[in-house]
Amino acid sequence: MNVYDSTRMQDALESDGYTPTPDLEDADLVLLNTCHIREKAAEKVYSNLGRIRQLKNKRAETARPLMVGVTGCVAQAEGEEIIRREKAVDLVVGPQTYHNLPAIVARAKAAGPQVETEYSVEDKFEHMPLATNKQVRSRGATAFLTVQEGCDKFCTFCVVPYTRGAEVSRPQSQIMEEAKSLVSAGVREITLLGQNVNAWHGTGPAGTEMQLGELLSDLSKIDGLRRLRYVTSHPQDMDDGLIAAHRDNDCLMPYLHLPVQSGSDKILKAMNRSHTAREYLDIIEKVRTVRPDIAISGDMIVGFPGETEEDFQATMDIVQQTNYAQCYSFKYSMRPGTPGAEMDNQVDEAVKNDRLARLKALLDQQQLAFNKSCVGKTIEVLLEKPGRNAQQLIGRSPWLQSVVVPAHCGQIGDLVTVVVTQNNANSLLAQPVGASS
Ligand code: SAH
Ligand code: SF4
Repeated sequence: MNVYDSTRMQDALESDGYTPTPDLEDADLVLLNTCHIREKAAEKVYSNLGRIRQLKNKRAETARPLMVGVTGCVAQAEGEEIIRREKAVDLVVGPQTYHNLPAIVARAKAAGPQVETEYSVEDKFEHMPLATNKQVRSRGATAFLTVQEGCDKFCTFCVVPYTRGAEVSRPQSQIMEEAKSLVSAGVREITLLGQNVNAWHGTGPAGTEMQLGELLSDLSKIDGLRRLRYVTSHPQDMDDGLIAAHRDNDCLMPYLHLPVQSGSDKILKAMNRSHTAREYLDIIEKVRTVRPDIAISGDMIVGFPGETEEDFQATMDIVQQTNYAQCYSFKYSMRPGTPGAEMDNQVDEAVKNDRLARLKALLDQQQLAFNKSCVGKTIEVLLEKPGRNAQQLIGRSPWLQSVVVPAHCGQIGDLVTVVVTQNNANSLLAQPVGASS
């Protein structure tokens, strides 16, 4: 979502005369779009700011002073504290105020440091200009599209409900308009985004509420759109309509990112996840029944307060039973203001490290096995970018793996049919159908 937000901020600033530069030294304005989900991500912001301060000091007496801003969830969570801690910062802008960015930058230039962390997601989406065709083209054949923001679930480890605010769904018409504009500029694959994307329940054209399965069906009718994905889902919102969409909608890629976090019912309860391990496995089974080739992905947390070795074994068990194609795993990170941070049974860092290593080894093994199982298959690949050399292009399989193909297979933006010839830990190699490897 931060990638999507960054592109939308760029769009807003380009309409105000800014252009992006890959060179920090060349910038007039630097915005750090930040993540607050784990402590490590939040701390990175301050180390980066320290580096940028040196550049700002160097430029202070020149004709091109440097402006520095912090946006995103660290901005939302820490507000003015950021300016107190790091004097180089001119603006602090929370995730719901991006549409005002050009005005906030102008105010900071004229009147000194600005902090804007007021909530109004609806306002943001109504006032954000659509990206121009040129802007979309510069970003390639795939695009993100936020359909839902915020969260009402309050898992006890998570800061999202505090930084992104309450759950808000964009109306169907707004999403369709943005999707059509992306496709008309050449986008072939859209990934719908939301902290709880499958909780999306926007207003439809008839004024009644729609669910995500129906939205996916409407989007798949857009001429020229070939692939749809959505991320991230919560097990509680995995309704039958959405599961059926995986059976009925060819555009919808056979890939489901459905985090479970833990395999222990005791820990799931302490996390306030509102489902059991069995219920999660039942959903996976339902989805696999309607779409046997679906790849399952997820997120896991080890070392949540109170997690015993037995609880951790239950996590290893649910991973064994789910058999992930790909899965992220994290050490529990204490976040200020969340109930988890108040719990007095925190797990030792060394125990967390040990469990994370064991879990990662199992997940790596599953990912490798999944990639291996693709060798010999004929698959469709959407070509996305140049490869390491002029003889190669890199695309994505339906299951989100990177696939390296010979450049003569097609052009960026093409969907090509290839045979997988080899696998690596994180990617596949393929040749056009009929060619020998
Ligand atoms: N809404 C999604 C997840 C959003 S946050 C869901 O409910 O599944 C993305 C991932 O970051 C989470 O799935 C979780 O695994 C991880 N995460 C969130 N807070 C964390 C914390 N305090 N410590 C470690 N990992 C965390
Ligand atoms: Fe965080 Fe996801 Fe839980 Fe919401 S549902 S609180 S975003 S982990």
